[in-house]
Amino acid sequence: MISVVIPAYNEEESLPLLYDKLKESLDKLNTDYEIIIVDDGSTDRTPQILKELAQKDEKVKVIRFRRNFGQTAAMYAGFEHARGEVIITMDADLQNDPQDIPLLLEKIKEGYDIVSGWRKNRQDPLVSRKIPSKIANWIISKVTGVYLHDYGCTLKAYRRDIAKRYRLYGDMHRFLPALAKRFGAKITEVPVRHHPRRFGTSKYGIGRTVRVILDIFLVKFLNEYITRPLYVFGGVGFGLLSLGFILGLYLSFLKLFTGASIGNRPLLLLSVLLILSGIQLISTGVVAELIVRTYYESRNEKPYIIEEKLNFGE
Ligand code: UDP
Ligand code: MG
Repeated sequence: MISVVIPAYNEEESLPLLYDKLKESLDKLNTDYEIIIVDDGSTDRTPQILKELAQKDEKVKVIRFRRNFGQTAAMYAGFEHARGEVIITMDADLQNDPQDIPLLLEKIKEGYDIVSGWRKNRQDPLVSRKIPSKIANWIISKVTGVYLHDYGCTLKAYRRDIAKRYRLYGDMHRFLPALAKRFGAKITEVPVRHHPRRFGTSKYGIGRTVRVILDIFLVKFLNEYITRPLYVFGGVGFGLLSLGFILGLYLSFLKLFTGASIGNRPLLLLSVLLILSGIQLISTGVVAELIVRTYYESRNEKPYIIEEKLNFGE
């Protein structure tokens, strides 16, 4: 079974058309499917349109948020409710093309866990969208080590057990493949079609730049240090502490052996500052270690993922 998950925020004009196109492409597949549309607190006629679609087709399942929680939350809700072996995400605005779904499924069949769409011929404004996105994709790829041309394309396919592992907060939908590196996912990309937005308006602008940069740090941290935060905080803290200690030692030496007055030296201040912040960082690291342990224990989750077990019986 295949689940298609679609976040929709004020997409009244696109939805009926999207439904027709999806239907056309999914009916050809010869597999059972469901279309989960998450209405992210729309204020236009989206809720009514979805109600009508759900009434006439029971394959259409609708989740309606009480208010706008954002695309990440909408996709997360879709993942949680999906019943398919493969979960496909796409935009509601018809910029992604349902005709590409078989391309993604093909790659899943080859054994990949995530297949990411690559809008090779992207139909968005150049300066406000395409250039910033090129830069962002490059940075995300470099920092996370998951090289993709197009993180921003919502059209992606996920194998169920990967999609179900996500715990998504903030604006993390842009980093789903990078986050899945932690789960050991095999990731690939395929070029997909892209159309200009015909109805409604884009929900994002250039204003997201700072948030994306901060999120990149977070993804890097989650991927590589989530089980050992002490190394990050403690490492820096230890460096600062040592430097402060050496400076303090040097000043004490001056005072004791030459009798020089050190009370008015900026170096003394620096030394104290370094020692204090070093201690602070190390203790933050220890606290972070405790939090990480609580995090895993409370969710009954292990810090490893097993691919296969042999001869262990049932
Ligand atoms: N979306 C959403 N909640 C939001 C913002 C966007 O569910 O708060 C949906 C939107 O309806 C669309 C998809 O996320 O289906 C991508 O949004 P948009 O097309 O505006 O992004 P762009 O293609 O311009 O990057
Ligand atoms: Mg769009």
